[in-house]
Formats: sequence, C-alpha cells, structure tokens
Amino acid sequence: AISVNRWIDNVIKPEQVEKYKNNGKSFIDEGFIQETLMANKQPEKQQIREIMAKALELNRLEPAETAALLNCTDEELWEEMYATGLQIKHKVYGRRIVFFAPLYVSNYCVNNCVYCGFRCDNRETIRKRMNASELSAEIKALIGKGHKRLIMVYGEHPKSDVNYIADTLRTAYATKEGNGEIRRVNVNAAPMSIEDLRILKEVGIGTFQVFQETYHYPSYKKLHPRGLKADYGWRLYALHRAMDAGVDDVGIGALFGLYDWKFEVMGLLMHTIDLEEKFGGVGPHTISFPRLQPALNTPFLQNNTYYVDDKTFKKLVTVIRLSVPYTGMILTARENAEVRNEVIQVGCSQIDAGSNIGVGSYSEDAVDYQRQQFILGDNRSLDEAIRDMARLGFITSFCTADYRCGRTGGCFMGIAKKGKIHNLCMPNAILTFKEYLLDYASEETKEAASYLIDKELAALPNEQVRATVVEMLERIENGERDLFL
Ligand code: SAM
Ligand code: SF4
Repeated sequence: AISVNRWIDNVIKPEQVEKYKNNGKSFIDEGFIQETLMANKQPEKQQIREIMAKALELNRLEPAETAALLNCTDEELWEEMYATGLQIKHKVYGRRIVFFAPLYVSNYCVNNCVYCGFRCDNRETIRKRMNASELSAEIKALIGKGHKRLIMVYGEHPKSDVNYIADTLRTAYATKEGNGEIRRVNVNAAPMSIEDLRILKEVGIGTFQVFQETYHYPSYKKLHPRGLKADYGWRLYALHRAMDAGVDDVGIGALFGLYDWKFEVMGLLMHTIDLEEKFGGVGPHTISFPRLQPALNTPFLQNNTYYVDDKTFKKLVTVIRLSVPYTGMILTARENAEVRNEVIQVGCSQIDAGSNIGVGSYSEDAVDYQRQQFILGDNRSLDEAIRDMARLGFITSFCTADYRCGRTGGCFMGIAKKGKIHNLCMPNAILTFKEYLLDYASEETKEAASYLIDKELAALPNEQVRATVVEMLERIENGERDLFL
C-alpha cells in the first residue's frame, strides 16, 4: 500500500488549475467583489424591482445587480423578493421538490478544516470506511424508506481514493430491495484530476459537488491550514475539471458562516458566470448553501464572528434564487424543520430527509455523534417531511428520468432556461410520487398528500400528456414501476 504522504504528493496537478485562468488570473477577484458591493450600497426601489423583473424572465443577473439585491434594506422589498423567488422556482421547476438522502461512506480525512468534525486532528471522531456489504446494508435501509437518489460523501484520504469511490458507486447502483433501487448517485468528495473524474463519469456519477467553503482567499487559507485542501486554486477549478471530464452536472456551494455572507453570494455568482463562459453557457446544475452547524469537539464553531442568523439566511437564499434563476437549489437537513419549511418557499428545489450522517448509521437506525461530521438540525423522517411538504402545497419527486435519458448538462439547462420542464418533470413527479404513496407512505401521509396527484394532473398544460400520465398511473396501480416520460 502506498503511504499517505506519497499519495498526497501526487494528487494536485498544477497545470489543471492554470489552464482555466484568464491571463493567469482567477475568476475570484476580491477587489472587484468588494468594489461592486460598495458601488451598489444604496439601491433605489425602482432598481430592485427592475432586477426582480429580469430574474422572473429567467435571466441570470450581473454582479452589480446581485450586489444591489444583497444591499437592500427595505423589508417590504424583501417580501416582494421572497415571493418572486417562489414564482421563479415554480416557473422553472413547478410545485415539486426533489428528495434525496446523504450517505456518508468514509470519514477518514487528511485535511484539517477547522470547522469539521472529520478533520484529521479530531481524536474524538471514530473513523470508519464501509466495505461493500456494509454499504449494501445502508443502501437497502434507504431504499426501504423510499429513497431513489443519494449523495454519497467521502473524506479525502487514500483509503477513499477514486477507485474506492467508483466501487462504492457500482455497489449503490447494483443494490436492490423490494420494488426499489437507487437510480441516481451524486457525489460530494474532494477535488480530483480530470483523469480521475473520467473514471467516475464511466461508472455513472450523477452530479459532482465540491463546495468552495469560502471564496475569500485570506479566510480560506486561515481555515484550511494543512493538507490538500489548503490549495485554494485546486478546489476553485475542481468543477471546471469535472466538466472537461464529461461530468456535465456539477454542484457548487459555499459554507455560510466562514466569512461575510454577501461576499460568498457574489463568489457563487462569479463561479456560475465563469463556468457558463467556459462551457458554452452551461453553469452549475445545483447551488448549495450549507450553514455552519455544531460538531463534536470542534471549538472553532463556538466563537464564530461570521455567524449567519435565520433571517439573513432566508435573504441570502433568495438572492441566490434570483441571481441564477434556472439552477437547482439544495436546502439540507443541517437546518431545522422550521427554518426549512420557511426557506423552501423562497425557491429551493431539492431537500434531503430522514438523513443520518454517521458512517454506517442508517442500517443501525441510531444517531452516533462520534461518527458524524456535524449535528443535523432536522430529524424528521422522510415520510414526515413529505407530509409537511404536501401541506405546503409541494409534491415530492423521486424522478431521475432526465439523467437517465441524457437530459443533463447543456440539454437540461436548455430545457430549464426556457421554463419548459413542466411537460416532462411534473408528469414524472406525479408518477414517482404515486409509487412512493403505494410502496412506502404511512396512512397519515397518504391521507395528507394524495390530493396532490389530482391537483397536479389537472394543472398539466398539455392534454395529451395528461392522458398518457393517467394511463401510466393505472399501470402503476397494477404493479408496474419506474414509468417515466
Ligand atoms: N471531504 C470533502 C470535502 O471537504 O470536499 C467532502 C465534503 S464534506 C464531507 C461536505 C461538506 O460539509 C463540506 O464541503 C462543508 O461545506 C460541509 N461542512 C463541513 N463541516 C461542517 C459543519 N460543521 N457544519 C455544516 N457543514 C459543514
Ligand atoms: Fe475533511 Fe472535508 Fe471535513 Fe475538510 S470538510 S476535514 S476535507 S471531510
């Protein structure tokens, strides 16, 4: 076996950072971001309304426009922005929410991110890397609850290198349980080389996520003192490499609470713009906005000056929604149920539920803080979360058809940008929801949520599509599964 240090020495390929820069410069220019925020310090009412109208037409905003929204202090205008966020989301994605489950596969890590329970110096964390049979047991437990989509998460370590990750993806796709199976596996792992990413493309990775954590270089250097993650540039271009490797759904994110929230939203926008410019108009498939949560034996989190409160959190999510109207937005179970029920309504499109982030904890059905990265805020079961969403008027979707029919990357974006997902995604949401209700839902959820099927059927704009869906619903009632448009 190769030593950890020798492995580390071979991971980063500087030429796979340099090639994406513009005349040697990165797309994050701290001076430019600070100046843009300053120059738009006191936006006029009229200006904010014009920006909202532009977003509602599904146009991506320019940095000055996003800065103006971030600096808005008029609460009445914020109310309008929240409503616009939801309108945009409905226009692009319909009244549906995509559900997934996080699955932590290995928590060995060579890095020392000060905010993370998995950092290598944390002796109180119990390290575990699942083997194939342990992983299968976890996946069966998740399928048994009704899940169809996973995000598999890994620390950065030679024990969880690309070959291990590829093996675990194969296991995930091969595992069956009852009527169910996992149909899309997304990955959140450390930045990789183009060569390694091609391996993941080959085994059928869904979205590849890498969060920059903070776009602010000085803060980044301070918070990631050692290890591979100390290299800001390697991480900044991780998703450019993924796109080059053919992984055309990529997910960006910033960890809110590490630096000024306005700067981070600007960073996410600059990241989006650079991906769009370099990859034919195709930006990130999803944007994540995790907020710092407490973690075992992690004192950094207790006196954190950049803490983002709930009200500010709702605002920053809204500005992201308006700035990049056609991109998926992921609101995780880091947030408690109350915050999630509120923030989902400004335009998020994906959530996890029934989540357990301890390595190996789903099959044991137990929470073990010593095996998890941080502490979750929302402990609702999948069934409860689906019921709550139904009460808010959202239909749950387990659809993975876009991905399996090749509607990813540019093709997906083309559909999403035109707001035409309704004739594909809404029907598929209805069909997968029907499967969930038949196979997994509690009586209470069936009662609270069944109305959505009729409601969304009636709302389908195309009669022929509606007739097809009605016929497919009947086939599902009669035992067929995995029907989609
Ligand atoms: N180890 C890989 C990496 O760092 O890229 C995989 C990601 S890590 C397991 C998943 C994400 O969790 C991190 O990118 C970070 O944004 C987030 N995270 C880390 N510590 C956190 C904390 N205390 N609270 C909330 N989110 C945290
Ligand atoms: Fe390791 Fe990722 Fe945690 Fe950093 S955030 S310590 S890289 S698992």
